[in-house]
Amino acid sequence: MPELLTPELIKLREDCANFATQHLLIHSNHPAENAREQVRAAAKAAGLFAMTQPKAFGGSAAGQLALCVARETLAAANPPFMDSVFGPSPGVLGSVQEPLATSHLAPLIAGEKRSSFGFTEPDDATPTAGVIDGDNVIINGQKSYVTGGADADFINALVRIEGRGPSMIVIDTHLRGVKIENKFVSLDGSHHAAFSFTDVSVPANQIIGEPGEGLPKAMRQIGDVRLLFAAQACGYMIWVLNLLNEHLKSPDKSGEARGNKDVVRWHYSELRIQAFAARSMLYRTARLADSGENIVNEAIATKVFATEAVGVIVDRAIQLVGGTALVEDHPLAILYRRVRGWRLAEGATDVLKLNIGRGILELDKGRI
Ligand SMILES: Cc1cc2nc3c(=O)[nH]c(=O)nc-3n(C[C@H](O)[C@H](O)[C@H](O)COP(=O)(O)OP(=O)(O)OC[C@H]3O[C@@H](n4cnc5c(N)ncnc54)[C@H](O)[C@@H]3O)c2cc1C
Repeated sequence: MPELLTPELIKLREDCANFATQHLLIHSNHPAENAREQVRAAAKAAGLFAMTQPKAFGGSAAGQLALCVARETLAAANPPFMDSVFGPSPGVLGSVQEPLATSHLAPLIAGEKRSSFGFTEPDDATPTAGVIDGDNVIINGQKSYVTGGADADFINALVRIEGRGPSMIVIDTHLRGVKIENKFVSLDGSHHAAFSFTDVSVPANQIIGEPGEGLPKAMRQIGDVRLLFAAQACGYMIWVLNLLNEHLKSPDKSGEARGNKDVVRWHYSELRIQAFAARSMLYRTARLADSGENIVNEAIATKVFATEAVGVIVDRAIQLVGGTALVEDHPLAILYRRVRGWRLAEGATDVLKLNIGRGILELDKGRI
């Protein structure tokens, strides 16, 4: 078993499995109009909502292993509204001082303001840049893929500040010069926006931390999301493999169990090996993170492996189940669309592999 969990974490896993059955799966077929509110209220009562929130704001600030256990277990039920279970986390705003603590972090945690993350830029654009002018930073540039951007009150954006370097800065979306250029929906159904900034004047005290410290801050948030993707991917692997288990025990037209054919068994076993490897990586990396180790390279390796593996597993499961699995609302077809973006979001697999090579060859970082 990769888990070897403490009694507390075993209890968390059981609680999450029960939560998925009692509060999420009940909305699978005919979700109530206020299903999200119901899920949020239940998640608060169960202590799950607070796991992603800082203690200073009433949260329980769970460690990476606990978060992985919770996310993997919920995803293993493949339920709807999983994104409403955990409260908004501070992300790059984690250790901000005043005025950002009151003006943006507190309302974010309370659910009164929505944030988004502006990192990716169009290939043909000049990098988003800022110039300090008295108490303000004047920002010009573009961000091309801001998840939830159209509904966001502010964007935590990476901006190259003249003379200081890459910095994270909070840009309120209502400011003059902030324009939504395009709204779009990706394959998984999630909503995004592309933004342009024209002479946007942002108070300089909305720079997160010191100017020039932006990249490590952005990368820390990206690293956390990479583990989140990996944990959910592992949960979906469990769900798909359970489905296949049932399917392969059921009879085909000749009356024989579908899993009696060697080639089918071979495929199924191959998928189980991949899931076992992905889960082993996830739990080891989460434990390293909780013990305070630098896990930049391990989180990359885990994200790459788990998101590629879940893609293969869902794809191969569709092949083994057959044409019915491709009907638009079949759970496997839905999963196929849902997991595809993970191989690009928070770093394309190809580029992350280069980062692993650079980590070890140039910086002597990264475990095997
Ligand atoms: C669902 C989803 C949500 C997203 N949400 C956000 C968000 O909230 N905020 C945000 O800022 N971004 C977001 N993104 C954007 C995401 O971070 C980028 O798509 C990702 O980093 C890849 O960048 P790109 O799309 O510009 O592709 P590119 O960087 O152009 O890469 C495309 C391909 O080109 C090749 N390639 C690129 N560079 C190299 C290289 N150096 N060496 C070798 N090959 C290379 C690789 O094959 C790579 O897969 C999201 C993306 C998705 C799919």
